[in-house]
Amino acid sequence: MRHMPAVLVVEDESAIAELIVINLRHNGFKTTWAMDSATAEREIEAALPDLILLDWMLPGESGLTLAKRWRSNNRTKDVPIIMLTARGDESDRVAGLDAGADDYIAKPFSTKELLARVRAVLRRRSPEQAGETLTIAGLSLDSATHRVTFAGELLKLGPTEFKLLHYLMRNSERVHSRSQLLDGVWGDHVYIEERTVDVHVKRLREALAQAGAMVETVRGAGYRLTAKPAVPISSEKQGT
Ligand code: CA
Repeated sequence: MRHMPAVLVVEDESAIAELIVINLRHNGFKTTWAMDSATAEREIEAALPDLILLDWMLPGESGLTLAKRWRSNNRTKDVPIIMLTARGDESDRVAGLDAGADDYIAKPFSTKELLARVRAVLRRRSPEQAGETLTIAGLSLDSATHRVTFAGELLKLGPTEFKLLHYLMRNSERVHSRSQLLDGVWGDHVYIEERTVDVHVKRLREALAQAGAMVETVRGAGYRLTAKPAVPISSEKQGT
């Protein structure tokens, strides 16, 4: 099933918040609304969103203060932020981007523009959610439908193996250490041993069948996905 990106809307004006929330939901996003900084912090503590739409002028702490804090926090630093505000001055825009916002939308805005910006930021920050198809040497991964095929044949992968393959395909030909894979695939907030990576690489190879040879072990360094494996991919189908 397609992953629905979760958007946290931090906005004190309920009419604007409602407009945003309805439009996002209508377009396949999960939304949470926080009307002030304290509520926003609680929501983030409960679940890390895929993107934050952040109003500048809020009661209590400003959106700018929140953006700076989330950027400097290890857990939240990679969550994309789009600042939302009536301020449209060049200097304000620069301050917002300096605080770590990925984009900036001045009110009033069209919902069409808002959706386009949200999608663009998600595509830049996490292509997995925006829907892309990667193809390397006959191996194809569609991140929107979560389908993986090799030479046109559908392969069955578990969710972790899918994420691992996606990461390796997006960064193909490069060697990744186990700790790099842990960071890139499992992310923070997860405490697992490096050996776990080996287990999932093994499962991934099995799931890929003939294409499993593309996932190479580089002794003493880690793993890589390559279009030209040392052990050539067999073109013959097994059992036929
Ligand atoms: Ca406001």
